[in-house]
Order: sequence, then structure tokens, then C-alpha cells
Amino acid sequence: TSLEDTLLSAIRTIPDYPKPGILFRDITTLLGNARAFRRAVDELVHPYAGTKIDKIAGIEARGFILGGAIAHQLSAGFIPIRKKGKLPHETVRVAYSLEYGVDEMEMHKDAVTEGEKVILVDDLIATGGTAEGATRLLRQMGADIVAACFVIDLPDLGGRRKLEAMGVEVRTLIG
Ligand code: 5GP
Repeated sequence: TSLEDTLLSAIRTIPDYPKPGILFRDITTLLGNARAFRRAVDELVHPYAGTKIDKIAGIEARGFILGGAIAHQLSAGFIPIRKKGKLPHETVRVAYSLEYGVDEMEMHKDAVTEGEKVILVDDLIATGGTAEGATRLLRQMGADIVAACFVIDLPDLGGRRKLEAMGVEVRTLIG
């Protein structure tokens, strides 16, 4: 079976979650499927295998799961990008736009150093507001963002274009 079919059939779609009218892509079923989980991680990293990647930055919370596996695969370190107030040491913070309203995310100031090569990871890109915020945080600390990787793209919402307009290479598996 093709990659897209394997992954699509491992993802569950939940209508009206978290709000009426929203069709939520639930990747917990993909994570629970050993073959699909391995395949998703392998496919996201293969263009970068053998290249020097210093760190993977994962966005809370599903980006931690995929990002941890990817970091291990590429022998890279891991940076958690979290909702505000969760990280114990000195942080940099950025406001980012959600579908309705804004929120803030943070990263430890010493999580990345100038010039380090970083891949940003999350499960899904929709409007791109979350990934844009993470990109701004990483660049503020001098990171060189090699790519942003997502299992799912919702192309109608324009996130890929938003990141590409910031000069970020975007890699997605479904969408
Ligand atoms: P964006 O900022 O691109 O509009 O939204 C992407 C962020 O919201 C990601 O952190 C992603 O995990 C979460 N998200 C939005 N919609 C969905 C969805 O349908 N399924 C999942 N798993 N995450 C979603």
C-alpha cells in the first residue's frame, strides 16, 4: 500500500471536536499503530538522513512525540516549544495567532545557539500560526531552520504558503 494510504487509514477523523463544525484529525490512532508510526517518522526524516542536523524543535504536545522519535533517528538534540509558563528556566516568548484569538509560546533561551541547524516538527499544519510563532522564536535565538515537518497539511488554510513566504522549507506527508 502507498504511504499516503497507510497513514490516512491510521488517522481518525472526529466531527465537531473540539467545537461544532470542526473536523479534528486524531493522530493517536497513528501513534498506536507501530507500522504507521515508524513509516511516518522514516518518511519525514529521510531527506535529512546523513545531513548535519543539530536539533529538532517539537511543538507541544504532539510535536514532542514525533519530534522525539525524529531526533533519535537523526542523532539530534531535542528542543521543547511550550505553552507559556511551563518551562522552568529563562525563556523567550512569542505571541501567535490561533483561529480565534492569540496565545503565547516559549522556548528556553539557551535551547539553541547561533547557527545551529534545526528542524521544526508538529503533527499538523493548518493556518500556520503556530509554526510561524515557533519559527520566530527559533530565529530570534539565531537558529538556522532547515525545514518544518508535519504529518498532515490542511492546504486550504494556507499554512504551508505562510511558512514558505518566511523562507522555511515545508515537508508534509498527507494533504
Ligand atoms: P495552526 O496554527 O497551523 O492553525 O494549527 C496547527 C496547530 O493546531 C498544531 O499544533 C496542531 O497540533 C493543532 N491542530 C489544529 N487542528 C488540528 C487537528 O485537526 N488535529 C490535530 N491533531 N491537531 C490540530
